[in-house]
Amino acid sequence: MRLVPLGVGDAFSARWYSSCLALEHADRWILLDCPHPIRKMLAESDAGVDLDRVEAVALTHLHADHASGLEGYGYFAHFALGRPAVIAAHPPVVARLWDGHLAAGMERLVTPDRPAKRTFADYFELTSLTVGEATEVGPFTIECRPTRHHIATTAFRIHAGDHSLGYSADTAFDPALIAWLDEADLIVHETNYGSQHTPYAKLAELPAALRAKMRLIHYPDDFDLDASVIEPLVQGRVVRLGA
Ligand SMILES: [Zn+2]
Repeated sequence: MRLVPLGVGDAFSARWYSSCLALEHADRWILLDCPHPIRKMLAESDAGVDLDRVEAVALTHLHADHASGLEGYGYFAHFALGRPAVIAAHPPVVARLWDGHLAAGMERLVTPDRPAKRTFADYFELTSLTVGEATEVGPFTIECRPTRHHIATTAFRIHAGDHSLGYSADTAFDPALIAWLDEADLIVHETNYGSQHTPYAKLAELPAALRAKMRLIHYPDDFDLDASVIEPLVQGRVVRLGA
């Protein structure tokens, strides 16, 4: 399994793209979240693939720094690829994805062959994730778990072959969530300011063995990368899980 952080910053970053991971197994790819400009993020990374190679987006929540690329993903799949854009998510996460996020820019499409009215199903295919179950998404199986955040959000545990990745998504500090993520080989955890994010100081207090298998994402622009006792992910650089 390979992981490529396409973005490592937060919603306000002037230094990095907002947080997004590309995951590869057996030369097949999915994304964890899909901010804008997703094709430029892929192109500037070491992933070496474009959006046509992405089989699905597993979506953690609808904040724009995680979901603002979905309109582009849907239109690119529709026009350039001629196939639906697959989104995998826990149903509460996407309950308002169409009416509250995408419809304003996608519900009308003027073409010569049919009326302009469009719906979610004209562009997207939803794979529903269920808490307590593993669901196949591309070459991976994904488990989800709700986090503590402003709006419905899930963390993921993702398996492929002999390897697994835990991704906290956006969350307040939550020891029970970290214990759940700790079953994976590698944990990508967020850190940021505010009650609905995880303070770096809390993660820095974790046992050394846990910190050693953890990488940081969603860090603020003023985060001291060199002083961090947990390795921050580097935007665009490949991380290998296993050989
Ligand atoms: Zn968020």
